[in-house]
Amino acid sequence: MKIDMVDLNGQYLKIKNEVDAGIRTVIESSAFINGPAVNEFRRHLGRYLGCSGVITCANGTDALQIALMALGLKQGDEVIVPAFTYVASAEVITLLGLTPVMVDVDPDTFNVTAENIRKALSPATKAVIPVHLFGQSCDMEPILELAASHGLYVIEDNAQAIGAEYTFSDGHKAMTGTMGTIGCTSFFPSKNLGCYGDGGAIFCNDPVLSERIAMIANHGQKIKYHHSVIGCNSRLDTIQAAVLDVKLGHLDEYSQARRKAAIYYDEGLHRLDPERQFIVTPHRSENSTHVYHQYTLKVRGGRRDALKEFLSKRGIPSMIYYPLPLQEQEAFRGIAKAGEELKYAEECSKSVLSLPMHTELTHEIQDYVIAAIGDFIRENC
Ligand SMILES: *Cc1c(COP(=O)(O)O)cnc(C)c1O
Repeated sequence: MKIDMVDLNGQYLKIKNEVDAGIRTVIESSAFINGPAVNEFRRHLGRYLGCSGVITCANGTDALQIALMALGLKQGDEVIVPAFTYVASAEVITLLGLTPVMVDVDPDTFNVTAENIRKALSPATKAVIPVHLFGQSCDMEPILELAASHGLYVIEDNAQAIGAEYTFSDGHKAMTGTMGTIGCTSFFPSKNLGCYGDGGAIFCNDPVLSERIAMIANHGQKIKYHHSVIGCNSRLDTIQAAVLDVKLGHLDEYSQARRKAAIYYDEGLHRLDPERQFIVTPHRSENSTHVYHQYTLKVRGGRRDALKEFLSKRGIPSMIYYPLPLQEQEAFRGIAKAGEELKYAEECSKSVLSLPMHTELTHEIQDYVIAAIGDFIRENC
């Protein structure tokens, strides 16, 4: 049995006809840049998310950079970011001469909280980047309230949670990426909505800001060869848009498949370790659906690396997202301001282990993974 972290080929084979036809149409029309499929996809994605402004771009990192550029922040302005995230969330802050301020995360959800953001506020704080890590929304209501009361911009990094839905205390719901000032996502192939190369998008419900974002992504021009601001060149290829338009039609079904697989892991692992003495399965927030970009365990007792090794010997891949919290990355040494305590970011980086998670998982594969973890517990704990 060959087990992959992600099975993009198996997923492709089920939608091959649709995808191949979409790609062929682009090639036959030679509309490789800004062809009709790009606008079609933008429209469909906006409708899916309930967001009036969708601007596509070249990748998720560009999306974050363009979002920050559009807000007109100045050198030295502080942007709060969780210490436990992918580097892109913080890298772009530094690249623009802004100061990343790292804050701790909640050890159950792995997400940044309003409480941690509050502790890091300073007169220079201008924006906050909540990252919806591993497929579940941050608790946005208190974050949005805090931001509103301090006049902060909120840029949601939604690269891992597209399709997740957050419920506010009054019962109204919103898709992740559409609640803040600006939302950003990535269409990297292994993301929940992934293309067959690089891609990204920016979400914004403010029409004036949306226009500015679109302009910045396109060399700062609205009228061709008339450049009103410094921008960049960041586009989604038409071929990728055609692929994404097909896959968007399957996104809810994909999220559902991931959720089912997560429940199956949960049940199997809870049977092995009912008291959660050895492994902690992913926490499910009450106010967010989970789209399981990753199925991330916490391994207790310093046994994470041993479990990874054990699984690997049985042909089971697993990944550590992320082995170092940002404050320990060499690149940020002396640049970033770290909040007082980043205890949980540190702890998570030492204990997390993500199991294979994708839309094509079978019970056979999952039983094999669960059985291997059972053997590990019996032999090592
Ligand atoms: C993938 C990812 C990004 C960056 O996306 P790219 O398309 O690879 O540039 C940013 N933030 C998070 C949390 C991600 O997982």
